[in-house]
Amino acid sequence: MRIGLFGGTFDPIHWGHLRSAEEVREAFDLDRVYFIPASIPPHKRGQTRTPARDRLEMVRLGVAKNPRFTVSTVEIARPGVSYSIDTIRHFAENQCKGASLYFIIGLDAFAEIGTWKNFAQIFPLCNFIVTSRPGNGYASPLRGTSIAVRRLFCYDFKKKIYTHRCGTSLHFLKLTDFAVSASDIRERVRRGKSIRYLMPSSVEAYIKNHGLYKRKK
Ligand code: ATP
Repeated sequence: MRIGLFGGTFDPIHWGHLRSAEEVREAFDLDRVYFIPASIPPHKRGQTRTPARDRLEMVRLGVAKNPRFTVSTVEIARPGVSYSIDTIRHFAENQCKGASLYFIIGLDAFAEIGTWKNFAQIFPLCNFIVTSRPGNGYASPLRGTSIAVRRLFCYDFKKKIYTHRCGTSLHFLKLTDFAVSASDIRERVRRGKSIRYLMPSSVEAYIKNHGLYKRKK
């Protein structure tokens, strides 16, 4: 089994997330992609977030029509800050033991990985697929990362990928640009603007019915 792990705040989930996951799934022939909403994202600590139950429900609605997409409550169920090392260990050692794991992450977020808790212990556990954000062309997945991260990888000229000495790999995938962000959606709702066609209509309806994002977050 080839499994994708796609973490995020998903506040709310939008077409940018869904289309990225679909392009990664297709390019890497993944059997399943888990969307993993964070409870308390370490890099967004202190920021007001929509309650986890609402973000989780919106992710459920967003992925509902794709049989290869599913939601994981592992971070929401775990108390405290949502560190990726704990999540990846959970999948590698319990839920998906024996599968090939691919952690999906945007180029901007991966550039910060050297600041993540126990980052060096993550790389032997799973492969990484670093994806472009709108405006990025083709790039090295290591762009913007610290030397402590770079020194862990070698470039394999035959396979044209970066490899870790434990055998895992690091890839870059250029996605179709879809310049939508959750913060932009929240801002539009706050200003009373339309959010139609930026996310599945079921998610849009959830936002309206629950009065989300009316005040500044
Ligand atoms: P915010 O605007 O609140 O920071 P966001 O829209 O960037 O949120 P997150 O939940 O923080 O969404 O992102 C989860 C993952 O999805 C990250 O790896 C991020 O790089 C990626 N991502 C988000 N929006 C897009 C997009 N439009 N295209 C490609 N990848 C995206």
